[in-house]
Amino acid sequence: HATKKTMADHLRKYESLFTLTPQRMRMIVEAFKDTLELGLEKHGQIVPMIPTYVFGWPTGGETGDFLAVDLGGTNLRVCLVTLQGNGKFEITQSKYRLTEEQKQEDGQKLFDFCAECLKLFIDTNFEPGSIKDGELLPLGFTFSYPCTQDRIDHGVLIRWTKGFGAANTEGRDVAEMFRQSLEKQKLPVHLTAIINDTTGTLIASSYVNPRTKIAVIFGTGCNAAYMERVGDIPKIKNLGIDDDAEMVINCEWGAFDSFEHEHLPRTKYDQTIDEQSNKPGEQAFEKLISGRYLGEILRLVICELIDDGVLFLGQNTYKLEIPYAFDTAFLSLMERHVFDPTEELLMIIGIFSHFFALETTLAERQFFRALAKLVGRRAARLSSCGIAAIVSRKGYLEEGCAVGADGSLYNKYPGFAERVHEGLQDIFGDKGRNIITYHAEDGSGVGSAIIAAMTKIRK
Ligand code: ADP
Repeated sequence: HATKKTMADHLRKYESLFTLTPQRMRMIVEAFKDTLELGLEKHGQIVPMIPTYVFGWPTGGETGDFLAVDLGGTNLRVCLVTLQGNGKFEITQSKYRLTEEQKQEDGQKLFDFCAECLKLFIDTNFEPGSIKDGELLPLGFTFSYPCTQDRIDHGVLIRWTKGFGAANTEGRDVAEMFRQSLEKQKLPVHLTAIINDTTGTLIASSYVNPRTKIAVIFGTGCNAAYMERVGDIPKIKNLGIDDDAEMVINCEWGAFDSFEHEHLPRTKYDQTIDEQSNKPGEQAFEKLISGRYLGEILRLVICELIDDGVLFLGQNTYKLEIPYAFDTAFLSLMERHVFDPTEELLMIIGIFSHFFALETTLAERQFFRALAKLVGRRAARLSSCGIAAIVSRKGYLEEGCAVGADGSLYNKYPGFAERVHEGLQDIFGDKGRNIITYHAEDGSGVGSAIIAAMTKIRK
């Protein structure tokens, strides 16, 4: 008769499903490069390579006070940024939590809420009378969803991502919608720029570290921006902008391989996430990488093993069976090596007993940690493929460059950056060491302030 499989036997199956070889990575990089190229050539491509109308790098000498509203995926942030010149800045900020209802309700209501939070922020942070009558503070709106722009203070939402679905917004100018909300509150602000968080992070990181050539966000979603020569963006040649001017491109690379599903190694767990998401087929790359999904991938594997009678026999697993019940932060905690003299993996005991009322064996806990590692490592290595595609397109490998990165996944997941670096070396060999990622502080808020300042100078 067959002997019962151990957890280590099960692990081997998942190892082969979630492991990416260097050869496979190089194939993904090639396909990625073609996709970037196509997006620059023609409008309306799956990876839209959006021209942002942010021209050139900051000098570091920009100064002044600027407000920024940042609508991310999880939180709404309002910041007051004081640029001091010399690459230095000060920032005061408040965070406001968004509810799931707000993400799905009416778009105008969502922007009304943003304006209300801004009003609260201004009332709290400015002394009465400190803003003179008629004075308007420049406001940058960091709106991190794909928008087409034909100037910097205007942006038509192509589609919601990251689980948002607010009605009456796709296809409309979000700057105009936000202006309406700002007017309702009679706020002393002037909306000067709509900026993607990747664009903001690119500009803010280069203000602080001029070696920065690429910015990547690893948060609820995943996306990147970099600087492109206008002459190399065929789809905007007719605008008569100088070929040698440089413009930030917001790649919206989370959409790579959407609908076609030709290039990325999707497992059946990834397919389930896609089918059950509010946007099936879309954001194929992001769904393998970003914070919104990694916990869910792991949960689906665990649920499969529950259904097969391998895990938690005789225990009530209903809490684990709720979609998205397993936050990506749990993967981080499971992978974190804390001092644990008992070697019992106390942290993992805690997560399962406290949040899911489940008892685990040591073998199971070792399995969960190994599984988290597989899912987290795959995400990091796929991100390396995207970075490598830009590096290779722009010829940054020889000289090397820095990559400004932000988002909870990058900042809090143990070893994430190291795994991205390891992935770059698997793709490029030793030269991969020339590409270094680092945490870009407060990129989205500060970036939008710098861009507002750059726009002011240009006018
Ligand atoms: P956003 O992208 O929404 O602006 P974040 O960068 O904070 O904001 O990303 C939020 C995402 O990060 C969520 O999907 C969440 O599951 C994930 N996350 C939060 N904390 C951690 C953590 N400690 N480790 C890994 N992922 C985390």
